[in-house]
Amino acid sequence: MGTSQKRPARSFPLIPLATVLVAGLLVAAAILITPPGQSTPGGTNLANAAMQVTDLPLKQLSPQAFADVERDLDATETPEPTTPVHAGKPTTVVVKRGDSLSAIFMRLGIYSNLAQLLKPGEDHRALERIYPGQKLVFTLSGTRLDRLELVQTPYRSLVYSRNNDSFVAETLHRQLDTILQYAGGHIDSSLYLAGHRAGMSDTLIQDLVHIFRWDIDFALDLRVGDSFSILYEKHLLDGEEVEDGEIAAAEFVNKGITYRAYRYTDESGRTDYYTLEGKSLHRTFLRTPVKIARISSYFNPRRRHPILNVIRAHRGVDYAAPTGTPIQATGAGRVIYRGTKGQYGKMIVLRHGNIYSTLYAHMSRYARGTGVGRMVKQGQTIGYVGSTGLSTGPHLHYEFRVNGVHRNPLKVKLPQTKSLPKAEMDRFLATIHAPARQLDAYALNRLALQAL
Ligand SMILES: [Zn+2]
Repeated sequence: MGTSQKRPARSFPLIPLATVLVAGLLVAAAILITPPGQSTPGGTNLANAAMQVTDLPLKQLSPQAFADVERDLDATETPEPTTPVHAGKPTTVVVKRGDSLSAIFMRLGIYSNLAQLLKPGEDHRALERIYPGQKLVFTLSGTRLDRLELVQTPYRSLVYSRNNDSFVAETLHRQLDTILQYAGGHIDSSLYLAGHRAGMSDTLIQDLVHIFRWDIDFALDLRVGDSFSILYEKHLLDGEEVEDGEIAAAEFVNKGITYRAYRYTDESGRTDYYTLEGKSLHRTFLRTPVKIARISSYFNPRRRHPILNVIRAHRGVDYAAPTGTPIQATGAGRVIYRGTKGQYGKMIVLRHGNIYSTLYAHMSRYARGTGVGRMVKQGQTIGYVGSTGLSTGPHLHYEFRVNGVHRNPLKVKLPQTKSLPKAEMDRFLATIHAPARQLDAYALNRLALQAL
């Protein structure tokens, strides 16, 4: 009990006059607002007030008084800092959960610098947003802060340096070296296991999946023996690996078909993955699934149903067209459902990559080559307009879903695709020349190993 008590006498005589005056006012205020009947042992209360004023009211002091206080405090023994500090030598502190800058200053035994640091402005705002795990590097002279480095990334810091009574902030960039690293493997149980075995992080594996998501259905298409190769950026700082960068080139062999992708930033500054022919791997959608048609009903979450006469969300768009009008797949994808389903009648659902799906209902009949599991091309005829299911007349009911959620097909922002313009092909081929040759070399190597 005795050891955990505050030691009122210790810091009291060392508080300079101005501070004591403020402390006195605070104590007076505390006494005034203390409810009657509640005992307040004077010494403890005074000490608490004194502890507060060393931190808080300093902001209001004149620069000269500030300097005086600081000099006085420099001369005192600080109350047991919990982090060992060596004057002049940088001390690194890792921010803990629930930590604040003032708590860290307290632990280090730094006094009175906080107000100078926390000035309004962009540079200073970063100090209010410290997060657990972040590194702060302090350089002190006694209890005076000379320099504070806020480590934002392994290669970028915000540095606050003392300039008399204030601090100057600057961003410090460290030069990273980037190398291209190879990783590759083959699948015998899962892509993740194979990727990890090849030394790839989860992020890199996800990046790889993302690149080929329009061509390969990673949930259904992967087979034992499929293989992959990637060339990815590795960022080094003084020869040490600090983080992975982007995939520069990738190859995926799925069911015997080789897909390749090359990252390229075009002349307008847009980065995408392209095939060797300069076609973006990012596919798009046709806006309408029927060439000549009239919209007979719009997407409407609160529509009165024309037959049922109840409020029922209309989660698609209806295109009125004569029976037998061809229906086109709006995007390249895989048939994941084909059959008759209640009010929808005969319908087909396509999945496009991992995110998008489209639904086509009330068909009179299906086109050939649309069995479940089949891949269809963009614009391919998948069926014909009809009036099956709950329908007032021949029309196509078309739905567009993003991550399983119905979106208005007429308004949803569709992914844009493009091929590189001819004028840019030379630049593109020059950019991808080296990674393409490297992928070739690794592919040859793998074939040679398989032949053994
Ligand atoms: Zn409809």
